[in-house]
Amino acid sequence: MIMKFTKFALKNLFRKPVTRDYPNVKNEFCERTRGSVTINIEDCIYCGSCQRKCPSGAITVDRNARTWTIDRMGCVQCENCINNCPKKCLHMDKHYTTPDFTKTVDTFEGPPAPPKPAMDPEKLAALKAAAAAKKAAAQKEAQKSEE
Ligand code: SF4
Ligand code: SF4
Repeated sequence: MIMKFTKFALKNLFRKPVTRDYPNVKNEFCERTRGSVTINIEDCIYCGSCQRKCPSGAITVDRNARTWTIDRMGCVQCENCINNCPKKCLHMDKHYTTPDFTKTVDTFEGPPAPPKPAMDPEKLAALKAAAAAKKAAAQKEAQKSEE
C-alpha cells in the first residue's frame, strides 16, 4: 500500500498541475458557448422578426425610435432571434452577462434614418396636376348627378 502511494506521489511531483491558476489564467470558452446575444445595430433594419420569434419575449424593437432592447434576465439563449434575423446582425457572444443586483436591460440605439431622396420636381408637378384633374372630374360628376 505504502509503495503504491509513494509511486503515485512521486509521479505527481513531476506532472503539470491539473488545475488552472485562475484568475491569472482565464478559462477559454468552447466554440459553441451560449453567453449573451449581441447586435450590430448599424445593420439592423428594425423589421421586428427577432422580437416575434423570441419565445420568452425578451426583445423589444422600436422602429420609430430606432432602438433594439434585450432583457438579459428574460433571454434563455435559444438563438431563435439569431437564426431568424434577415440581416444577420445578431450573434451569440461567448461571454456571460456580468452578475448584478438589478435586472439588466440593454438598449442599443441605431444611427438616424437616412433622409428620403427628394422627388424629381417635374414628376411632382405631373402628380399634382393628375390629382387636381381627378378631383375636378369627381366634382363635375357630383354636380351632374345633383342636376
Ligand atoms: S431581426 Fe435583425 S434586422 Fe430585424 S429587427 Fe431584429 S436584429 Fe434588426
Ligand atoms: S436567444 Fe432566444 S430567448 Fe434570447 S433573445 Fe434570442 S430568441 Fe429570445
